[in-house]
Amino acid sequence: MTGRVLVVDDIPINQRLLAARLTAEYYEVRCAGSGAEALEMMESEQPDVVLLDVMMPGMTGFEVCEKIKESPSFGHVPVVMVTALDSIEDRVRGLEAGADEFLSKPVNDVALLTRVRALTRLKRILDELKLREATEGELGIKDSIAEVSGDEATWVAIDLPASDIEAMEDAARICRSRLIITADQDEAAQIIAAGDAELVALEVSGPVDGLRVCSQLRARPDTRHVPILLIGDSWETEALYKGMELGASDYAFRPVDHAEMVARIRLQVKRHRFHERLRDQHRQNRDMATRDPLTGAFNRRYFNDHFARLLRHGDEHNQPVSLILADIDRFKSVNDTHGHPAGDAVLKDFVVRLGICTRATDLIARLGGEEFAVVAPDAEEGIASRIAERLRASIADETFDIGGETQLKMTSSFGVATATANDSMETLLARADAALYQAKTSGRNQVVFAAESEDEPDQVSA
Ligand code: GH3
Ligand code: MG
Ligand code: MG
Repeated sequence: MTGRVLVVDDIPINQRLLAARLTAEYYEVRCAGSGAEALEMMESEQPDVVLLDVMMPGMTGFEVCEKIKESPSFGHVPVVMVTALDSIEDRVRGLEAGADEFLSKPVNDVALLTRVRALTRLKRILDELKLREATEGELGIKDSIAEVSGDEATWVAIDLPASDIEAMEDAARICRSRLIITADQDEAAQIIAAGDAELVALEVSGPVDGLRVCSQLRARPDTRHVPILLIGDSWETEALYKGMELGASDYAFRPVDHAEMVARIRLQVKRHRFHERLRDQHRQNRDMATRDPLTGAFNRRYFNDHFARLLRHGDEHNQPVSLILADIDRFKSVNDTHGHPAGDAVLKDFVVRLGICTRATDLIARLGGEEFAVVAPDAEEGIASRIAERLRASIADETFDIGGETQLKMTSSFGVATATANDSMETLLARADAALYQAKTSGRNQVVFAAESEDEPDQVSA
């Protein structure tokens, strides 16, 4: 995967050197000669990665980095500091400014391309999350990553030697974070999957194969997002790069400096929390667009889309699709007698019962007031009628708790139709609706199966 790189350096020959190497790998390169120009180009060029010289007249690289990271619109773009300064103080200063990586001059080709590739990938993920968020909700995340804290987290160290543990413990104290030490990668995976860890540290080549653990963590859906920090010795550069390719988030060389460890981990945790926030936002926006807020059932809009999809799928795979419409009997009297909140409580419990009696693949939607639909893919008439009968019983057989001492006896009527080759979404809905109407007029609390054509509906149970 290639992308667009912004090279920021006040010396034209340095710009050209980096540009040449990146262009050879098919990256699109833009160059800026000062911090001010770089900040302008962040907006106009929308780079995927920034390579930022530290020593520049006017604004230094640190200052430029801080400015980039404070921006809500491009603060998520990864920044690599390119520096002749190789002291730990400088690196820590850079990390604190929000830099994502470092390259020391003269720049090593492999190091350059490994980092740019890993960071471009990261940027794409963030773009995707931001984009979804923008299309699904008007809310948008206004905060920049700079406002997210990297402290008070839980870290897991897998099988690190004592000297590394010591450095981690020091760092954990400074970050007011909890360090869980384990020699067992399965236990670590469990902790991460439970959502309790926001960072994993492991040795690239130790008793436990760090690279293997890395790719295993990335492969599991419940651990794939956790930041991974690899620790290795200076002669293990190749393995560390490999680890980055496999999805590690960062690496540190021994001897591990405390201040650097603190800054690196803080950054990883910050970034992780920022990603999680975007993901949560995305989930919320998606739910808002597709679900009924009172009951959590899908809304009518989602029902229309998904019902059409299920029908098409059934048609293509020659599988029956059934539709069950449910309308609560004499629901208005609940509101009239016990108040609107009591009615709401019944609606919520009604949907819970629908969920219990159906399969996870069945679609449950609230079509309006007290009318619901269940679409059961791969269910023919017999099965659909049995599901509906089970639903009817689950409503009628147990009273509804509306708070206080009051328990209400409720019933519901059901209309069922199974799609035939001639059915469209509209005709299937109309047939189920006619059956439901029949159930209502013949006494409620019953299931009626729709007639196939224009014939009268057949009654299935009472
Ligand atoms: P039937 O047996 O013929 O279906 O009678 P019904 O009373 O259930 O039907 P009707 O359509 O007359 O009344 C539905 C009531 O549902 C009227 C409306 O105020 C109430 N309702 C609709 N949405 C909500 C809601 O979100 N919360 C509450 N509490 N009531 C609602
Ligand atoms: Mg009703
Ligand atoms: Mg009604």
